[in-house]
Amino acid sequence: MAHPLLYKFSHILKQRKLKMFQKILYPTDFSDVAEKALTYIKKLKDSGAKEVVVLHVIDERGFDRLHRFMGEEKFKDLKKYREEEVQKHLKGIAKELAEAGLKFTLRVETGIPVREILRVEKEEDVSALVIGSHGMSNLQELFLGSVSEKVIRRSKTPVFIIKR
Ligand code: ATP
Ligand code: MN
Repeated sequence: MAHPLLYKFSHILKQRKLKMFQKILYPTDFSDVAEKALTYIKKLKDSGAKEVVVLHVIDERGFDRLHRFMGEEKFKDLKKYREEEVQKHLKGIAKELAEAGLKFTLRVETGIPVREILRVEKEEDVSALVIGSHGMSNLQELFLGSVSEKVIRRSKTPVFIIKR
């Protein structure tokens, strides 16, 4: 039998490990890389992941220009179409997380992605973030996308980067 002290330490270590990934913030732009990140989140269940906050940010920059360019009617249609697309994607993610046995909440915010991601990180008091190294743009010559770079720089909790 292991020494009682050793047993105690391993118990503490196990609890720490469990806490590290307990509540995960998963920001997604529904890109291939972000989708790949989801497969890793499901695997983190074995490392203590219990709950996932799924966050999509509708980037409002450029809305004004679009609005002026398209006119009221078409702009409204476009927004509605985009919102429906977002809901479809979220529904798929929800299904996957439920099947993996993880609790989750789905959040949609409108604003500047980096700012909203950091705000939700704080608000939800998450233990870690899991994001893709790249997103929709996925430029070959870029080491990191601009959102992931800024999130890594500014977040208060550990960030797990899933490479493309
Ligand atoms: P860039 O946007 O700088 O042109 P990119 O699109 O290739 O580059 P990022 O936008 O930095 O890369 O995406 C990296 C990761 O950040 C994504 O995989 C996703 O996890 C997250 N992310 C990006 N945009 C959003 C968003 N609008 N809402 C939620 N998460 C996002
Ligand atoms: Mn992007």
